[in-house]
Amino acid sequence: ETIGRNFERIVGQFPFHDALIEAAAVPGADARRWSYTKLNDDVDRLARALLALGVAKGDRIGIWSPNCAEWTILQYATAKIGAILVNVNPAYRSHELAFVVKQSGMRMLVTAPADRNSDYVGLARQALGECPELRELVFLPDFESEGLDGGVPQREQELTYAELLKRADAVGHSGLKARMAELDPHDSVNLQYTSGTTGFPKGATLTHHNILNNGFSIGELLRYTEHDRVVIPVPFYHCFGMVIGNLNALSHGAATIIPGRSFTPAAALEAVQDFGGTSLYGVPTMFIAELALPDFASYDLSTLRTGVMAGSLCPIEVMKRVISEMNMRDVAICYGMTETSPVSTMTRDGDTLEHRTQTVGRTMPRLESQVVDPATGDVLERGEIGELCTRGYAVMKGYWGQPDKTAEAIDAEGWMHTGDLARMDDEGYVVIEGRIKDMVIRGGENIYPREIEEFLYTHPAVQDVQVIGVPDAVYGEELMACIILKPGAGPLDAAAVADYCRGKLAHYKIPKYVDVRESFPMTVSGKVRKVEMREEAVARLG
Ligand code: ATP
Ligand code: MG
Repeated sequence: ETIGRNFERIVGQFPFHDALIEAAAVPGADARRWSYTKLNDDVDRLARALLALGVAKGDRIGIWSPNCAEWTILQYATAKIGAILVNVNPAYRSHELAFVVKQSGMRMLVTAPADRNSDYVGLARQALGECPELRELVFLPDFESEGLDGGVPQREQELTYAELLKRADAVGHSGLKARMAELDPHDSVNLQYTSGTTGFPKGATLTHHNILNNGFSIGELLRYTEHDRVVIPVPFYHCFGMVIGNLNALSHGAATIIPGRSFTPAAALEAVQDFGGTSLYGVPTMFIAELALPDFASYDLSTLRTGVMAGSLCPIEVMKRVISEMNMRDVAICYGMTETSPVSTMTRDGDTLEHRTQTVGRTMPRLESQVVDPATGDVLERGEIGELCTRGYAVMKGYWGQPDKTAEAIDAEGWMHTGDLARMDDEGYVVIEGRIKDMVIRGGENIYPREIEEFLYTHPAVQDVQVIGVPDAVYGEELMACIILKPGAGPLDAAAVADYCRGKLAHYKIPKYVDVRESFPMTVSGKVRKVEMREEAVARLG
């Protein structure tokens, strides 16, 4: 089924359900709400407007905005007309924007109003000047601060969202139905750029079949129903927000709650409290920040039962507190990558605390996993560490415009090579050991930073920790622990850390360097950019 037809079926199924989206942009202020029926009407109006502008099947339409309800509306409107939505990272600036616009051959860019982080409109205008294929800019209004409009159109190719919607009158519902009938589940619907954790982002081309099935399947394992209210503080631009979040909730008739344009720990918890959230999403660092709020204990989180933690490994101490203090007893760990729609393994109800802290669960229904020797490609025995590979319906079509990169990533038998080191136990639980690129080789020993991070996390002064390898003349590489201290915690240096480790970790796993810092460089999807930390460390160590 295509997303559009699935959508119509859901709308028919839950005609009286009160809210699909509840956008509580500024907690405490009046929230904007959409019922299923209203959402369908708004999606159709936007879809007809896009048809009126002449958007053809397969045209690329970019969305460059922090989270807002219109993001979701555009996601479904483009799916209904067979256009390909290109998710543009809100952190991009002129150079990266121009790259994505050109690389994807984008014809329209829907742009957020300027905020304190970015002059989206100004940068989009610059891209319009530089990229001849880009034909239209659409400016979203500012829904949060009253009175401020997005961009004021200055030339023919620019229009406001309101002006765009007016075009819908030129195309009837029959026009939209006719387009929907032309679509095939295996048509591309989405061009999602990877997070860029390890290098420059690559555009994963995903089909209706890929992401609709993945979203639905995740919701089945989370036991979502129309009574669920899913709080999504993770960015829509990333598959975590748009598939694990939006599409999953939609395909089970659940409500989604958007706690504002970008993540703040307080807004996320307020959204749960004020809207009776049953499920809360986040990468581990978001949960760490929520648990660290000075007034954490004052939030009423009693409606929560589940949620999704994904994107990177979660320290055991954090998981324990999420389950016991945030009431998320069924919280699931999802593992995956943009290229696999994204989720390929996941924990299930009934999995133990150990499963949810030490593994990323088992392979999703209708997908396959295997662990291979990265050098030879041979399939390894259970328990051995190698590269994790995924096969099945969720694997992307390929990297947009990069057939060489696609051929490197997806082999002739259809296996997607993840670039992640993992092992699988006899019951099929997968343990992620880190990225192949992050493994440290010190004096010939393979060191997986995660093991040391887990250990250092138990130090009472440590709030968050990342371990990286830095070049060393004698050993090839040495370990550096980058540490964020808990508020008020005393100083911590390499000698103190070594004392703490001695007798508990093998000598070669004890970090030689300790770098106490305020924060880690992050991707917008919430992943720590170890690449950048290594570069900084190398520059500093000379
Ligand atoms: P790029 O491919 O551009 O370097 P990226 O790999 O971070 O960036 P994404 O597709 O957003 O881009 O992330 C997928 C990666 O995130 C996985 O390959 C894996 O390394 C990591 N990851 C995802 N989920 C988990 C998880 N639950 N536990 C550990 N790591 C995870
Ligand atoms: Mg990747």
